[in-house]
Parts: sequence; structure tokens; C-alpha cells
Amino acid sequence: MTQDELFKVLVAHCKEYGFIFPSSEIYDGLAAVYDYGQMGVELKNNIKAYWWNAMTRLNENIVGIDSCIFMHPRIWEASGHVGAFNDPLIDNKDSKKRYRADVLIEDFLCKIEEKINKEVAKGRKKFGDSFDEVQFRATNPNVLREQKKYDEVHNRYVAAEKANDLAEYKNIIVDNGIVCPISGTCNWTDVRQFNLMFSTSMGSTSEGANIIYLRPETAQGIFVNYLNVQKTGRMKLPFGIAQIGKAFRNEIVARQFIFRMREFEQMEMQFFIKPGTELEWFRKWKETRMKWHVNLGMGAENYRFHDHEKLAHYANAATDVEFQFPFGFKELEGIHSRTDFDLGNHQKFSGKKIQYFDPETGESYVPYVIETSIGVDRMVLAVLSHSYKEEKLENGETRVVLGIPAPLAPVKAAVLPLLKNNEDLVNLAQSIMDDLKYDFNCQYDEKDSIGKRYRRQDAIGTPFCITVDHDSLQDNCVTVRERDTMTQKRVPIAELRSIIDKEVNMNNLLRNLK
Ligand code: ATP
Repeated sequence: MTQDELFKVLVAHCKEYGFIFPSSEIYDGLAAVYDYGQMGVELKNNIKAYWWNAMTRLNENIVGIDSCIFMHPRIWEASGHVGAFNDPLIDNKDSKKRYRADVLIEDFLCKIEEKINKEVAKGRKKFGDSFDEVQFRATNPNVLREQKKYDEVHNRYVAAEKANDLAEYKNIIVDNGIVCPISGTCNWTDVRQFNLMFSTSMGSTSEGANIIYLRPETAQGIFVNYLNVQKTGRMKLPFGIAQIGKAFRNEIVARQFIFRMREFEQMEMQFFIKPGTELEWFRKWKETRMKWHVNLGMGAENYRFHDHEKLAHYANAATDVEFQFPFGFKELEGIHSRTDFDLGNHQKFSGKKIQYFDPETGESYVPYVIETSIGVDRMVLAVLSHSYKEEKLENGETRVVLGIPAPLAPVKAAVLPLLKNNEDLVNLAQSIMDDLKYDFNCQYDEKDSIGKRYRRQDAIGTPFCITVDHDSLQDNCVTVRERDTMTQKRVPIAELRSIIDKEVNMNNLLRNLK
């Protein structure tokens, strides 16, 4: 199966098993808006708990808040979003489809990279153990030709980005024959800026109404509460404020399922520090955040940093944590050193003094900030796309299994009486269910054969299936079947809680972070 096909199958699987539905589906949906179903919401909540606890419980100097989506409109002037939260927009005149010019160029670069990697893979296959990748890349004519093309386009792109040169974006697209995937033509409009903020009005009469923006990031809610939290929490630098909440962006192109949505959720943490220490903290947060990701066991090779070449005017360092999605390595999280830009601007625009008095040095200053910002939905997609597997079984059948890291799995255990019309089996299964449900999200299922029930649980990623059979009535033991290995073990009912807990308890995951 190609990665493209895998992605399509995954989207269908998410719908079929209650993870993610297109929003307003009975009205034919709403572009780039999705709802989470009964399984999706559990997975999402577990991801949020993993992040929230890693931030606020494991760090005594990080606290949480929950600020509103509606904020004073001046905030978005101070933050720069009214003036500069734009994407470069381009239309194809034949298909009438809209694209982000930067994304068209980046996708083109990715394709060249893929070609190079394919050549390298061919070389590796041909030369076997004696393969020297560095030498191959330096001498193979096909690789050299593609690399030259890559470097040329890349250098022009970086320069255009730095200079904010929209005409040059179009030139790059036209010069390289980048076509619209729908019409296949190179008949493009000029590139123009498009502001991504949604707006509405607040107030009962239209004259008195204020323009209100739906927040495009949660971070500003943290900045404008900096003084409140610092004072009421008697926080000393360095300290952080964490928040999970909805954000809204009128994305130009939103065709990658929950990767790019118009309504999404972010988990952001702003870490306030003394000016001059930012690069050291930036490095520490890069390390800490990568550890949080890799700790889930989805393969260190599936993550990489992408350091920004073009820095926003207020940032002095920025990187993305990229994950290998089915459509390639793409941003999952951003880590930014934002200097005193945000707090400084809010001080200026609000006229309120936002300073920290440093008891050690006796100075007052506007703190610097390191920000870590990750999309909940992109994390859900990372987990689901990595977990989805189609496995050939010994009996020739295929099973679809979601190998979701156990502490994140929506359902931790399924309790299955062997027969549904045997009162004793059903009663015992129900009593096991009643006992376990306080500790774990469990499902009781008595319909269909045991094999079919196992398949249903595999498809939603349940780590354990507990089967109650006739022997259970005599020996107080049940069969526990493990999702990934499909091994079955007979265990005493009294031990079920500790067996499940060992695998699914999120605290074990958190402990590994220390
Ligand atoms: P991109 O370059 O992919 O548009 P960005 O650099 O604009 O992302 P940030 O502003 O740094 O993203 O936002 C932080 C995080 O929020 C991103 O790393 C991503 O996980 C998430 N995010 C941003 N935009 C969206 C979106 N439209 N849908 C889902 N998640 C998003």
C-alpha cells in the first residue's frame, strides 16, 4: 500500500470506528472542520492529559490557566496578528483552486528530496554492505543533478521568504513548472497576502459593535495573564504558564484531514526567563519536548528538528519538531524563542507596566519567553497514522490493529463473556467490568464470536481483552489476550487490575521522563 492509499484507508477507519467524523456530515460537511467521536475524544483526552501532567505536575514552576477565546481586539494588534498573520495565496485560473504559494514550493522541494532518497536506496540495494552513502551522494550523477536543482530552488525560496517577496514566489512556481494538481496547468494568478483570522462582532447593536477575533493561537491569553499569575502565584523566574484550548485559522488550503483544520486545539506553554538566558532555555526545551515525544515509543527515527532559517522579527531562535506523517515529515510542534516581543508590546499597547522585579539583582525588566506549541489534533493524527497496521495472520486472514501506545488507548480493556445467553458467564463478566471501570475505561461486549470481538477491539487499539469462560466459574481465572502479540494467558481475576495497570498507567510514562 502506498502512503497515499494508507492515508485514505486511515481516514475511512477513523470514521468507521468512531474516532473522527466530518463536521455537519448530514449537511455534506464543512470544509476542514472535524468532530471527534466516542473513541477519538478518549484518545484526545489522553494525549492532553499526557501533555498537561508532563508540564504542570512534573515541573513545580509551571502552572496552568484556561483563558477565553474572545479577547480584547487590541490584543491582536499588539501581537502583530492584525497586520501580519498572513499566508501567501495563489489561485489556479483553470481549476479555480486556491493554494498557499509557500506550500506549493515546499512540496516541490519534498518531491526532489524523495527522488534523491530513492536513488540512494537503489544504490544501497545494488552495493549492499560495501555501500558508502556519503560517497554515493557526492558522485552519483542523478543525485548531483537533483541536489543542484534542490539547492537552487531552496536558496531562491529562502531569499523570497526573508524579503517577503510575493512576486518571486510566483516566479519560482512558474520557472519550475509547478502545476496545479487538479488542472495540471501552470496558469497562476499573482501571489497575494491573506489574513488568517476569523472575525465576528460583539455587542447588541451594530453601531456599538466591536470587531472580535476568534483567537488564532492560545498564547496571547497567557501573555495577557502573565501579571495575574505571577503575582497571585508568587512566581519567580524562570516559570511557565501552560494552556490547552481551541484556536481558529481561516486556512487557505485545508485538505489534509485533521493535519490542517480551521478549528483546532493547541497545547501551549510560555516559559518566562531572564533576558540573556534564552538560548540555553531554548536548547533545554528542545531536548525536553523531544524526550516527551520519543517516550511514547513511536520510533525516534520518525521525529526530526527543522530549525527555521527565516526567523520572525521578534524571534532569535525557532525550530519545528517534525513527525513522519503518511505524507512526509511535517511540523507537529513549534518551539520558539520569542524574546520580550509579546510582553513588551502588551506593555506598550495597554499602558500597563509588565515587568518582573528580580530580587537577586534588584533590577526590573520585561521577561523573555520560550514557547512550546503543539497541535492536539496533529498529535492525534501522528498517533493514529503510526498505529494503523494491517497484519497477515497465520490462518491467511488479515487483521487491522491500532497499536496505540497503551496509556493513550481510548479503551484499556474489553470484558467478553464467552456466551451471551449464559447467565453465570454474563454475571461474572459484568462483575469484572463493574470492578475495573473505576480504574480504566473498559468496554463490555457480548455480541458475535470471540474472534470477531477481538477484531473489533484490535481496530480501536484496546490493549487487553478479557474472556470469561466456563472454567472461570470454577477457578476464578480468565483469559487475557494481549493486543500486539495476540498471546493469551490464563490469570486470576484478582490480578487483572495490576496486569492492566502496569501497561496502561500514564504515570509510568511520566516517570520515564525524569
Ligand atoms: P503550519 O506551518 O503547518 O501552518 P504554523 O507554523 O503556522 O503551522 P504554529 O503557529 O507554530 O503553526 O502553531 C503551533 C502548532 O499548532 C503547530 O505546530 C501545529 O501542531 C498546530 N497547528 C497550527 N495550525 C494548525 C491547523 N490549521 N490545524 C491543526 N493544527 C494546527
